[in-house]
Amino acid sequence: MNTKPWKTNDRGNFQRESSKHSPTALCRELDQVVVLVSGEPPEGLLDGFADIARNADPSSEYAALFLFPGIEPGLIVEAVTCASPLIPIVNMTGRACPRADFSAPMPSRSALREGWTAIDEIRAKLRLLPPLPEGEDRDPLTLCYLAFSRDGQLNGVIDPHVEEMVSYPLLTGIPGSRDILESLAESGLFERRFFERLLLCERCGSARALAREVCPSCNSANLEEIQIVHHYRCGHQASRSEFDDGENLICPKCRHRLRHYGVDYDTPGEMQRCRTCGKTAAEPLVSFLCADCSHETRGVDIQTREYSHYRLTKAGELAAEEGRLPGREIEELLSRLAGWRSPHNLALILESIHRVHTRYERPYTVVSIPVPDLEQARQELGATGITRLRRALVDMLRESLRSADFVALHEGRIVMLLPETDPANGEAVMKRLSQQIRESFGEKMRLEASLVGYDQSPSLIAMLSKR
Ligand SMILES: [Zn+2]
Ligand SMILES: [Zn+2]
Ligand SMILES: [Zn+2]
Repeated sequence: MNTKPWKTNDRGNFQRESSKHSPTALCRELDQVVVLVSGEPPEGLLDGFADIARNADPSSEYAALFLFPGIEPGLIVEAVTCASPLIPIVNMTGRACPRADFSAPMPSRSALREGWTAIDEIRAKLRLLPPLPEGEDRDPLTLCYLAFSRDGQLNGVIDPHVEEMVSYPLLTGIPGSRDILESLAESGLFERRFFERLLLCERCGSARALAREVCPSCNSANLEEIQIVHHYRCGHQASRSEFDDGENLICPKCRHRLRHYGVDYDTPGEMQRCRTCGKTAAEPLVSFLCADCSHETRGVDIQTREYSHYRLTKAGELAAEEGRLPGREIEELLSRLAGWRSPHNLALILESIHRVHTRYERPYTVVSIPVPDLEQARQELGATGITRLRRALVDMLRESLRSADFVALHEGRIVMLLPETDPANGEAVMKRLSQQIRESFGEKMRLEASLVGYDQSPSLIAMLSKR
């Protein structure tokens, strides 16, 4: 039965669809703060709740999610997804809820109070942030917002319930969260801290691989450890069982009886004998049996994957406070210019212009300008200064670009293509831009623009065409 008791309204907030279908959920308005309650709170427990709620900000639609015993585990993820991925959660179910910001073993008045206090700071931080945007930046910004509102940390834990064996409790219900975290770390919004390096099944990539010792000859795990006996007199070495006639130790080679340890013989070590193929080996091999697909990966073939904890950087905090990923605003501004092209499109144009240049020696110029370092810009100019800087940069570009020129944004760099412009004129354009920025924003805000030489064009074309 596919009954979804949750529904999302236009503002992305949780609504109760029908009380008939949500026996475990009820919304309560307490002193103007709507708290989403799931499960069955004990009779009368929430009566005194208004005391706690009085100080809360009435502007949030769902201030928090309170979980009580009786909620179906599957509904937690669903409730979070539908209410808001950022919603603070107080868990009083007595069961584990990795996403919870506060957990108590059972519902009680004091647990309620403690839970409310625990999430108060989270709510205060969330109030500093603009609403989450829709579109492709929503998920990455959700991660920034979650970290911003919770100590800046998104830490991993070992989790046997997932193939990767590592999950990020705060990111429960956000698919592909590790990939998003990795790309945010690449952009400098999070910094990594080593957590684990796990071995992966070579067939399915699962990290639920069981390490076992196996026979080097036949791969069987059916091994036994045998003691080696060394007969001094004849030098023969064999397993103890070969010497053992039931009563005494008799050398299978020279038939002498071994009487005294250290005088007649010693035991130099152990070996592994395979009960499947009968072979012995000094050292077994290590192999990994996949708990998900049963494939066996040999130790020498095993691949690893590194997992990190993530911490929001200053640039990440800024992205959260602005409600946009860095570069997005400049992209929006640039995209209004007549010569605006996608990187791929610019690559095609550059390719044909470069061909004309090679054949007929027609000049052109490519100028590459890194988008100003946001962190540095914030230190120098403050938050409003960054906005001013971006606007000014785009205005200056608009003035510099002629109708036949093109511009694109690629991996944090503004790429300008000026056909029929020789490098000397291109350099003049570049100098003028740098000078304007310096005049408007001071010596410290340098624009490190550079000319891309003709010989570098093919590799630039290749980079621009990627993806
Ligand atoms: Zn596998
Ligand atoms: Zn074997
Ligand atoms: Zn012997």
